[in-house]
This record gives sequence, structure tokens and C-alpha cells, in this order.
Amino acid sequence: MLPSLFGWHGGSLAVDLGTANTVVFVRGEGIVLFEPSVIAVDEETNNVLAVGEQAREMIGRTPASIRATRPLRHGVITDFDVTEQMLRHFIRKAIGKRRLRRPRVVLCVPSGMTGVERDAVEEATRSAGAGDVSLIEEAMAAAIGAKLPVGEPVGSMVVDIGGGTTEVAITSLGALAIADSLRVGGYEMDEAIVRHAKDRHRLLVGGEGAEEVKLAIGSAWPVVEEREAEIRGRDLSTGNLRRVRLAGADVREALSGTVDRIVDAVRGTLERAPAELAADVMQHGLVLVGGGTLLHGLDERLHQETGLAVSMVDSPLTCVVIGAGRSLDETPVRVRSRRRRRSF
Ligand code: ADP
Ligand code: MG
Repeated sequence: MLPSLFGWHGGSLAVDLGTANTVVFVRGEGIVLFEPSVIAVDEETNNVLAVGEQAREMIGRTPASIRATRPLRHGVITDFDVTEQMLRHFIRKAIGKRRLRRPRVVLCVPSGMTGVERDAVEEATRSAGAGDVSLIEEAMAAAIGAKLPVGEPVGSMVVDIGGGTTEVAITSLGALAIADSLRVGGYEMDEAIVRHAKDRHRLLVGGEGAEEVKLAIGSAWPVVEEREAEIRGRDLSTGNLRRVRLAGADVREALSGTVDRIVDAVRGTLERAPAELAADVMQHGLVLVGGGTLLHGLDERLHQETGLAVSMVDSPLTCVVIGAGRSLDETPVRVRSRRRRRSF
């Protein structure tokens, strides 16, 4: 942006409203905001108390009248008003500091969104101060961010594993030629660890503690040196606080159901793809983006099960917003998808 030449107006933003994290990119500057998609609301007055990192610290620690939630957690918007307020807060924060006037905004949307929801987030973005608003499918933004040749007549496969969703897509000629979206991601992995602690150790643990274990020792493929991690919780029989040590192999087993579903989605997308596109993917492999793909050994597991070459991007958590940001520089890609929705 060149404020001195053109005055304080214009500017362009890309916003990735993820189920776990919201990321904002400003053209000419890069990433200016990265915060958890969490909002805390006082249920009596409906006032927003905190958003982002500050709200995340409140999860599980609030008095009864305050609710700290992740409104996009399951990949679909359950509480639209709250999502709108969160989005507005993040956009205002990014715009306000820079005194941008009615910037152009491209918003990456979870693919489970209905037309009505899309209209509503567009409206929320506008009321947060945006000028022109356009939406881009996350999988398309991810493919652009991963520098895949999306505009060419060649099939490129991208797998984006976020907190609440996994998107599997093959792009060709500027569109999503085939795509699948499942409501499975990092959160489901955390929940699998919560269930494991309950069933095997009779211990009640929280999602945040389970996530820490996943980040520390979670894996999708055997590791050379298996490690252990400690988790704290409440004993189901006595109610006392207790700690247990979880073995890496046990955590891998707990995560295997979720990993299997992701592997099946990749295989299924490849099987349903037209022969030419499938052949392109066999030749070029697939690219992993999203925080969930950082699970240790997931790349190896996918490679073993599909025979495809699997590569990771440098910054899996910001690849989508960077791709959307890049789309601001270029002729808009056609965002169209033939999507098969799964029902759960
Ligand atoms: P979203 O796009 O849905 O907001 P992100 O791409 O930001 O999601 O990824 C968030 C998810 O990635 C969380 O579930 C988090 O636990 C998971 N994650 C982050 N780092 C790792 C890691 N090193 N190993 C496994 N999972 C990870
Ligand atoms: Mg994402």
C-alpha cells in the first residue's frame, strides 16, 4: 500500500476464518494477525468480553454466565451472531491500526457453509469496514498458497487438515475439479485422546491437555524412538486429581480412527477423479497444508497407503491466507466446485 501517494484508502486484506485459528494478511505487509477463533460472551448481557488469544485462555475457566467458545469448531457455524462478532473484531483490529478505508477483502470460507451463511459472512465483513468482499474456497486458497499450478490444465491435489475439517481437492484450470470435505480434523484427534484416557485409564481430561499430548507425542506412523507424555485429569471413581503417563504407541492407536478417515477421503477423491486428473496426481503427488498435517508421520502414512509422493509446505498454518492474499494480486480465479458432501 502506498498511503502517501494515494491517501489512506484502499488496501487489500485476506482473511482465513479457520475452525481453530483466524489469520489476516494485508497486501504489501504480510500476516498481521494470527489468533485462535475463540470468543467469550457474557450470556446475561450478550456483551463480547474477549476475542482470540485472550478468550482462549478463558475456555473452561469462566463463571457460569460467561461462555468462551469456538463457534466454528465443527466446521459449520452453529452460532452465527457470535461468529459475525468474532469476524468483525478481527477485521476491525487489522483495519483499524492501519487506518485502511473500505479495503477490498477476500475471505476464505469453510466449505460446509450454506448460501445463506455465505451471504451473512459477506455482510458481516462489509459491516466491519470492508469495501468489496469476495469469498474463496479454502482448498483453492490452500492450493495457491502451496504454489500449485492451479491455472493450468493439470490436476493438482491438496489436502488441508484444520481443527474441525479436512478438505481434499484436485484443482485444474483455475477451479476445484473435484473436492471432498469432511468434518474431521485436529479436534477429533484431541477428542480421541480424551476418550482413550477415559476408557483405558479412567481419567477425565480436558481437550487442551489432550491437544498438548498430541503435539508432544502424537503420530500416524511408528517412530524410531517412542516417547511418553504425562496428562492430568480427574479420576472417574474417586474424583481426585491424578496424572498418568501415556505411551506414544497408545496415542497413535487412539488417533488411528481419525487418520484412517483422512486416508480414506484421499483415496476416495483419487478414485472418483477423471482418469487424466488422477494420472496427473499420480505423477506429481499431493501437498499437505493446515495445522493437522503436522501430526508426526502423517505424510509417511499417506504415502504408504496411496503410493503418492507427499510433500509439506513451509508454513502449513498460514498457507491458506497467503494463497488468498496472492489471489488479490491476480485475476480472480474461478471459484467453482463440484463438491460431494458427506453426511455424518
Ligand atoms: P483451521 O484452519 O481449522 O483454523 P489450522 O490449520 O490452524 O486449523 O490447524 C489447527 C489444528 O492443527 C489444531 O487442531 C491443532 O491441534 C493442529 N496442530 C497444530 N500443530 C500440530 C502438530 N505439531 N501436530 C499435530 N497437530 C497440530
Ligand atoms: Mg484452515
